[in-house]
Amino acid sequence: MTTTKPNLKDISSKVMAGERISKEEGLFLLKDAPLMELGNLAQQVRFRHNPERHVTFVIDTNLNYTNVCDAYCTFCAFYRTEKDSDAYTYNVEQVMEMVGQAASKGVTTVLMQGGLNPKLPLEYYKSLVSETRKRYPNVLPHYFSAPEIQKISQVSEMPVREVLRHLKESGQETLPGGGSEILADSVKRKLSRLWPKGRVSEWEEVHREAHSLGYRTTATMMYGHLEEPEDVIEHLERTRDLQDLALSEGNEGFTAFIPWSYKRGETPLAKRVKQESGPTPYLRMIALARIYLDNIKHIQASWFSEGKKTGEVALNFGGDDFGGTLFDENVMQEAGFYNRTSIDEIKDIIRDAGFKPVQRTTKYEILQVFE
Ligand code: SF4
Repeated sequence: MTTTKPNLKDISSKVMAGERISKEEGLFLLKDAPLMELGNLAQQVRFRHNPERHVTFVIDTNLNYTNVCDAYCTFCAFYRTEKDSDAYTYNVEQVMEMVGQAASKGVTTVLMQGGLNPKLPLEYYKSLVSETRKRYPNVLPHYFSAPEIQKISQVSEMPVREVLRHLKESGQETLPGGGSEILADSVKRKLSRLWPKGRVSEWEEVHREAHSLGYRTTATMMYGHLEEPEDVIEHLERTRDLQDLALSEGNEGFTAFIPWSYKRGETPLAKRVKQESGPTPYLRMIALARIYLDNIKHIQASWFSEGKKTGEVALNFGGDDFGGTLFDENVMQEAGFYNRTSIDEIKDIIRDAGFKPVQRTTKYEILQVFE
C-alpha cells in the first residue's frame, strides 16, 4: 500500500469540502505550507464561519487579586512568595474598587487572575464574583483560569465540579483559558517545577466540567518555548476533542481560540529559550488554528502578542476577533513586555485591515457595529 505525503492541494480540497484535517496534514501546514497560501486557505475558512466582514473586539481589562503563588512556573515573572516585600493579596473591597474603576471606563469584561495562593478560601472567590455582579451589572466576571480552579479545589478539599458549581451560583458564566501553555505532558513536564502538578489532564478537567455546567470558556496556547511542532498539533487535537465533547453534550464550549507567544523577559525559562518566535510563526499559528479547529467559531488575533502591525495582518490570516483593550495588563509587563492601545486605535487597525469594527461581550454577543 502506498501512502501519499500531505500536500497543500489535497488539503485545500478537503478543507473546502468541509472535511476535517488529520494530525499529519496539520503538521504539514505548520512546517511546510507556503505562508501566503496557508493564509488564503485560512481566510476562506474564516468567512465560512463568520461570513460578514466584521472583526469583533471587547472593552476589557486584566486585573490581579494576588501575586502570591506556590507554583513557580519557569515562564512566569509575575509570582512572588509570601515573604517577598512586594507580595500582595487584595481583600474583596480593594478588588471591587479596581473593578469599579474599570466599569467607569466602559469595560464589559474583567479578566481576573492571580497566583495560586494557598491561604485563600472558596468564600473569597465566590465573593469576588457575587459582588462584581451585584455592584457592576455591565461587567461579566471572566475570572480564574484552570490552575486557580484546581488550587481552590485542593484548598477547599472539594471536587473541581463542585467549585465550578459554587462559582456559577455566585454569578460566573465564563472562564479564561490561561494555564494551558502547550497541552502536551512532554512539554508541561519541562515547564513545571512541581511536576506532576500542572498536567494536561488538570487543565482539561476544568474546561470539560465547566462546559458541562454551561460555562463558556476560551482555549488558549502559549507557544515559542520548549515545544516541538508535534506538540502544537497535539494541543490543537486535544482542544478540538474537548470541543467535540462539549457540542456532543449539547453545550457550546469554547467561544474562541487565542494563541500567543512566550516572552522571555525576566523569566527563568529565558536561559533555555534563546530567541522569541516573532511575527511569521504567529501568522502561521493563527492560520493553522483556523483550519484545524473546525468546531470553534472564533480565532483571536490580537495586537498584543506580536504588535499592532502583525495583529492587523493576522486578520487576513484567519483571525476574526481582535481581542480586547487590556487596560491594566500586568502579567506580561512583569516579564518586561509592555504594549498598550485604545478603543479608537483598535477600531482604526480593524478598518485598516479591511473590516468593520464590532464591539462584543465576553460571550461574543454583538453590542455595537461601527462604520
Ligand atoms: S503562571 Fe500563574 S501559576 Fe504559574 S507561577 Fe505564574 S502566577 Fe503562579
